[in-house]
Amino acid sequence: MAVDAPLHPKYPNLFRPLDLGFTRLKNRALMGSMHTGLEEVDGGYERLAAYFAERARGGVGMMITGGISPNEEGGMGSEMSTPEHAEAHRVVTEAVHKVDPDIKICMQILHAGPLAETPTLVAPSAVRSRLSPLVPNELDEAGVQKQIDDHVQCAKMAQLAGYDGVEIIGSAGYLLSTFLVEKTNQREDQWGGSYHNRMRFPLEIMRRCRAAVGDNFILIFRIAAMDMLQGGMSWDEVVLLAKAMETAGATIISTHFTWHESAVPTIATMVPRAAFTGVTGRLRKELSIPCITSNRINMPDVAEKVLADGDADIVSMARPMLADAELVKKAFEGREDEINTCIGCNQACLDHGFEGKEVSCLVNPRACHETILNYQPSSSPKEIAVVGAGPAGLAYATVAAERGHSVTLYDANSEIGGQFNLAKKVPGKEEFYETLRYFSRMLEVNKVNVRLNTTVCASDLDEAGYQHIVVATGIIPRVPDIEGIDHAKVVSYIDVILGRVSVGKRVAVMGAGGIGFDVSEFITHKGVSAALDKQVFAREWGVDFDNHPRGGVTGVTPQVEAADREVFLLQRKTTPVGRSLGKTTGWTHRMSLAKRGVQMINGVDYKKIDDQGLHIVVAGQPQLLAVDTVIICAGQLPDRHLFDQVGDLGIDASLVGGAFEATELDAKAAIKQASFLAAAI
Ligand code: FAD
Ligand code: NAP
Ligand code: SF4
Repeated sequence: MAVDAPLHPKYPNLFRPLDLGFTRLKNRALMGSMHTGLEEVDGGYERLAAYFAERARGGVGMMITGGISPNEEGGMGSEMSTPEHAEAHRVVTEAVHKVDPDIKICMQILHAGPLAETPTLVAPSAVRSRLSPLVPNELDEAGVQKQIDDHVQCAKMAQLAGYDGVEIIGSAGYLLSTFLVEKTNQREDQWGGSYHNRMRFPLEIMRRCRAAVGDNFILIFRIAAMDMLQGGMSWDEVVLLAKAMETAGATIISTHFTWHESAVPTIATMVPRAAFTGVTGRLRKELSIPCITSNRINMPDVAEKVLADGDADIVSMARPMLADAELVKKAFEGREDEINTCIGCNQACLDHGFEGKEVSCLVNPRACHETILNYQPSSSPKEIAVVGAGPAGLAYATVAAERGHSVTLYDANSEIGGQFNLAKKVPGKEEFYETLRYFSRMLEVNKVNVRLNTTVCASDLDEAGYQHIVVATGIIPRVPDIEGIDHAKVVSYIDVILGRVSVGKRVAVMGAGGIGFDVSEFITHKGVSAALDKQVFAREWGVDFDNHPRGGVTGVTPQVEAADREVFLLQRKTTPVGRSLGKTTGWTHRMSLAKRGVQMINGVDYKKIDDQGLHIVVAGQPQLLAVDTVIICAGQLPDRHLFDQVGDLGIDASLVGGAFEATELDAKAAIKQASFLAAAI
């Protein structure tokens, strides 16, 4: 450890270098591995180079690439096995080292094993993952040896490409981890049976990689320190493996907290910040090599506390550096209030990754688009009015002002944020406050003239003589045409979330989109939000952090304290309720509501609402839901009143966000569209 380095006054641990013997990390901030999808697109490596270089300029100490397969069976689409592959990666490693030769970039070796989407998929035993339709091919002895050889070759080629090291993933349900667990390893040869035998495959890979790359190359092993599987790894097995990895040549142990199959959310926004770092802390005490911790560490004060508590040597902030490439630099310079915080939504990163789309970030559409979306100074600055301070208006105003335009931002409300002011009140969505804090500060930094409590009409804009008008007036909730819709028991989601109406004991929520789910969560919640309290989170999701039974969850029954209310969440479609929710988070919302006793009904035909309740037909059967409240969450329509007015006056204006298109609208679409438009004016 470099004892002579001056301590940062606020973040002495985060900015303390770490001595690895043959090299050192300039600080303790790591950008963990994330699949970007760029490896597979034309010109992808140049885009990756710009993406990583921007994070290097942002002050991070070490970065890990998205997963690259050692062979075709590994199933990641991009492979590192030949000098030609290594050559393609050089543009990435050179771009990073050009920014600062002290910044490390390591490549992740990811063999997906039974999760690979290829007919050649392999695994220790022919056990299908519940997440895959494919049964893997069981490896024979020669096959096992080939997989080990391919990992070694992959590490050598990564070294040739100029990487400072590799991370070998041994968690998540990918190949190496399936050797470790009895359920997926049913072999009776030297690679199966006892735990000693089951560890052999990952250990052999580490040992032979070390022998092949020499002493001066970083080798990180990613371990499932708590795999969240019923009957998963015991704590003793985790410790045994980590210690054996140390002996086999690992430089660093990186802790991971899941298999993709697990039924506990570990990175979604409903997970408390730094919920799992205590597990890393326990493991760290058993080892003499450094440990990386991760998961929902999204601000520098959280990272500093984790390090100060002795829970880790290095803190991984992966998605937070998609959200803000300059997170580390801003912390160093005391500009924390300018950090664009990752809200843990997964909407543009993980969801896109799993859907095979290019990854980006909801709050920062420049992420992975560094060569495409740039905010250059304008050559002809204009006077611009932006009406509506929801996500679309905020993104437009801040980007246009950053580029040198003179921007006035209006909103009828007393605070900025639009619908984010509703979202932030939903238990589990507390991170949305951070986005509003960020935009609030950016309006100041970029000197936007903010006029709140101001409902704008076209004549106001006409008189002011702006050179360009942007209408970001959002949406109007849809009111379905159903008999009795004017009944006193019918209320809107807005009034419910803002507490303007009281909600009864028996409730029908009409519409099961994102808002219907959020409203159901809101009205069934009781006590402290799990996102704010690790003990509540552990209780609700059945995790035992203290005793660490197998997988952290074996034998632990989730316990949820719900509000005393009977809730029916309804939709007309016959598809499963919640199908439209995010790919990587939808299941957490469905499970959360199920634990609260919410009854989800699809294929509903709404007939009428009267004093008795809501009359519906399901599968041809008339039913009466004897509810005292009906909350309408039936989608949204664009609010174009102002746009039509300015059009009538012959004033040219642009539409952004919900005012432009309410179908498929979310904050991701609103911020992205507004940012692209503001970058172009
Ligand atoms: P809005 O946010 O609706 O903002 C429009 C603004 O214009 C308002 O502030 C309004 O006061 C102002 N305005 C209108 N007319 C005038 C006028 N004449 N003069 C002055 N001001 C005017 N999206 C996600 O991506 N992820 C989520 O997890 C998510 N959760 C949500 C949870 C809830 C409970 C809700 C309600 C929405 C959620 N959304 C989520 C949706 C997201 O908030 C919206 O898609 C987004 O806010 C749309 O942005 P916008 O700027 O177009 O409109
Ligand atoms: P939505 O996702 O489009 O859902 C609207 C719901 O209303 C659907 O269940 C729809 O299903 C129903 N509906 C539509 N027309 C109806 C009608 N005439 N009568 C009765 N029911 C009708 O919209 P939303 O829930 O209002 O959310 C708005 C936007 O915010 C969405 O884009 C959403 O993605 C975003 N959001 C996202 C999240 C998130 O966590 N990512 C959370 C909240 C909101 P049926 O037609 O089958 O009944
Ligand atoms: Fe974080 Fe959401 Fe951005 Fe992903 S899309 S990096 S979860 S803010």
